Amino acid sequence: MHSWLAFVIALRVWAGAAIPMLQSTVNFNEVRVSQEFEHSVVFLAHIQSEIELDTIYLFIQPEGGSTDLQTVNTSGNGEVAYEYNLQDSAIRPFSKVDYWYRVVLKSGLQVDSQHYSFDYIDNRFDWQTLSDNTFIVHWYNRELAFGQYALNTANTGIQSAQAYLPVDLNAPLDVYIYNSISDLQPALHDKESTWVAGHAAPDLGIVMVSIPTGPEQNLELERQLPHEIAHILQYQIIQGSFEQVPVWLLEGTATLSELYPNAEYQRILENAVQNQSLESIQSLCTTFPQDTAGVYLAYAESSSFVRFLHQKYGNERLLELLKSYQAGIGCPDAVQNIYGASLDQLDYRWQQEYLGVDKERLAAENLAPYLILFIIVLAPVIFTLLVQRTQPKHA
Ligand SMILES: [Zn+2]
Repeated sequence: MHSWLAFVIALRVWAGAAIPMLQSTVNFNEVRVSQEFEHSVVFLAHIQSEIELDTIYLFIQPEGGSTDLQTVNTSGNGEVAYEYNLQDSAIRPFSKVDYWYRVVLKSGLQVDSQHYSFDYIDNRFDWQTLSDNTFIVHWYNRELAFGQYALNTANTGIQSAQAYLPVDLNAPLDVYIYNSISDLQPALHDKESTWVAGHAAPDLGIVMVSIPTGPEQNLELERQLPHEIAHILQYQIIQGSFEQVPVWLLEGTATLSELYPNAEYQRILENAVQNQSLESIQSLCTTFPQDTAGVYLAYAESSSFVRFLHQKYGNERLLELLKSYQAGIGCPDAVQNIYGASLDQLDYRWQQEYLGVDKERLAAENLAPYLILFIIVLAPVIFTLLVQRTQPKHA
């Protein structure tokens, strides 16, 4: 019995000595970061060890991204001040970043620190905050009343979006309101084109909008907030497979949710009809044009086309369509399956009915059933008359 116990203890001592991770010899103190938005994060620490340090590794794991490994130099006294360049890094604004150190000692022992984290926030502004159970609204350089209006609009906006996208929001959602597109631009990780006024990052649980101060600010909130919130709901319905869904459907459905329609879109569409510069809906399946005029026309078309599908065929089919794309069906195929008509046919019907393109043909098409009925009804009469006329006359 005793010898057995002694054996276990000996085994443990031996096992302990064999494991190179020995926590007690190294202390990680004053571990923190200092960030300058867009430029760099400085990782700071004081690493104390009885045995001389050989190498220090820093693991940086951005939310939803892969881990980046850096080798860190230290001054002789164990002070770490490692500047990590944020340009071209995988760290996205408003994401959480995990990080930890591994120290290799001259003796060959390796020691890992615990895991630490920080939120990479846009600290160029002094953010004000208001929240309820569903939203946390952030804004700067504006009155509290503006924040309250934004919070109220977010709540009205989600009701509007849920009419088309019936799913509960994974609350709370952070809403960041910038005062201009130029303020917003640096916060967009992939540095989208300069026309981008709003952005949703559903995996991070945030939306960002740009609302210039002025008489239009409430209307802009009523447009942009429901739109971006709709993208969050879409993401939840299709469980993240955004890249499989045609852009015209994502943007069209989001636009339906807007509380205040963009008056420009109608004018843009009328111009495009006049100039015969409408793009086919099929061409908007995978991407939107990058030039400003092209992208506005693409939004206007998507918005109007999805409204047409919604009004003519109902919301259920739009949802089915969304889910077909999640299942991996191609852009025109899913439309054909759900609507029993090709994307080009529906595109054409939309142009005729909503934009007044090719009115004569539409009139002819609308008349066609009556014409056929007319022929069916009258054919026997005509036939009888013809037969009677060709009957040989009897004297
Ligand atoms: Zn959008």
